[in-house]
Amino acid sequence: MVHEGLKKLLNGVAAATRQAHRAPESVTLIAVSKTFGGPEIVPVIEAGQRVFGENRVQEAKSKWPALRMAWPDIELHLIGPLQSNKAAEAVQIFDAIHTVDRPKIAAGIASEMRRQAKRVKLFVQVNTGREPQKAGIDPDQADAFLKECRDVHGLEISGLMCIPPDGEDPNPHFTLLAGIAARNGLSQLSMGMSGDYATAIACGATHVRVGSAIFGTRPQPA
Ligand SMILES: *Cc1c(COP(=O)(O)O)cnc(C)c1O
Repeated sequence: MVHEGLKKLLNGVAAATRQAHRAPESVTLIAVSKTFGGPEIVPVIEAGQRVFGENRVQEAKSKWPALRMAWPDIELHLIGPLQSNKAAEAVQIFDAIHTVDRPKIAAGIASEMRRQAKRVKLFVQVNTGREPQKAGIDPDQADAFLKECRDVHGLEISGLMCIPPDGEDPNPHFTLLAGIAARNGLSQLSMGMSGDYATAIACGATHVRVGSAIFGTRPQPA
């Protein structure tokens, strides 16, 4: 079955990877389904998409168990901020968490992964624009935090994630994130949304998080 929004986006991702002289399979599309329900999500699953992103633990918990029962090969990524009292649920529901950004969260995830005997793919979120209201570790503290994740909490971090400031050229932010990843030996970069995924792919993104370009405009801001 064809889904127009998904098809258009996959074509755009393919064009961007080609232009960047990268292999098509080097970029994973995370379809961001926050605020949308089954009627919007099911056609995207039926069109073949298997990796989805949600920004809230509670919302994911209410939407996804039923869908995953029907499609067990779905992979679910948490892309929104995580409260430490939700670490247990987050580890239980999600296959990947993109928003590890402080010691308390790292410790909570580490102990839950041990308790549940479950491994979750982890990204550290970096606040590349140093915005006070935004989640993410300060770029100057990223190296030390990554070391702490590994040495103190025993976590294997797969890569880094960022959300560039609204209305700014995202390129310097993607480049900064790629530099921090490179010097820390991390191969994965979660960056790029509906408006800037092509730029992100040119800068090395391995995971793009795209919502509205697939599903249409969200009913209300998430
Ligand atoms: C909502 C969201 C996205 C997707 O945004 P679109 O502009 O709809 O593509 C990506 N990343 C995060 C962290 C989000 O919260």
